[in-house]
Amino acid sequence: MFVKEMSRQECYEVVASGDLARLACCKNDQPYIVPITYALAGTHLYCFSMPGQKIDWMRANPKVCLQIDEFSGKCKWRSVVLTGQFRELPPAGGRYSERLDAWSLLEKRVNWWEPGGLKPVPQQISGASAHIYFSVDIDEMSGRQTSEVEAGSS
Ligand SMILES: Cc1cc2nc3c(=O)[nH]c(=O)nc-3n(C[C@H](O)[C@H](O)[C@H](O)COP(=O)(O)OP(=O)(O)OC[C@H]3O[C@@H](n4cnc5c(N)ncnc54)[C@H](O)[C@@H]3O)c2cc1C
Repeated sequence: MFVKEMSRQECYEVVASGDLARLACCKNDQPYIVPITYALAGTHLYCFSMPGQKIDWMRANPKVCLQIDEFSGKCKWRSVVLTGQFRELPPAGGRYSERLDAWSLLEKRVNWWEPGGLKPVPQQISGASAHIYFSVDIDEMSGRQTSEVEAGSS
C-alpha cells in the first residue's frame, strides 16, 4: 500500500459525497473535537447545532479544522483535512436567506437534526429559538489517499 496526495478536485469530491466530519475548535490553547453532520454548498459547509461548548468556543475563536474521510478498509481510504472560519447564520438580519439555504440542504437527510438537537440532559425552555445554523467557510484543503502504486511511478 502507498499513500499519495489528492488534488483539490479529489478533496472536493470526498467532502461533497460525505455528510459527517470531525470538527475541531480551540479556545485558550485547548482543542475540542466532536463529530458533526454537514451539507456542502460551494466553499461552505452548513451545519445545525444547539447551544453548547463547541458553539461557545467557535464564537470566541472562529478558526476551525475539519477532517472528513471515506474508509472502506485499512488499505483503502481517502482523508481530507480542511481549515476554515466559523460564521453564524442568525435567524434575523442579512444572513437569513443563507440560513434558509442551510436548512433546505440539511433537511434532505433523514433525521438530520437529531444528533445535533438532542442532549443528555433536558434543555432549558426559552422564548427565543435555540436552533443554531452556521457555516464553515473553507480556507485551505488537503487530502491523502491510499494507492496501489507509488506516487510518481507510472
Ligand atoms: C454521527 C454524529 C452526527 C452528529 N451530528 C451533529 C450535528 O449535526 N450537529 C451537532 O450539533 N451535533 C452533532 N452530533 C453531536 C456532537 O458530536 C456533540 O455531541 C453535540 O453537538 C454536543 O456538543 P457540544 O459542544 O454542544 O457539547 P455540550 O453539550 O456543551 O457538552 C460538552 C461536554 O460534553 C462532552 N461531549 C460533547 N459531545 C460529545 C461527544 N460527541 N462525544 C463525547 N463527549 C462529548 C464534551 O467533552 C464536553 O465535556 C453528532 C454526533 C454524531 C455521533
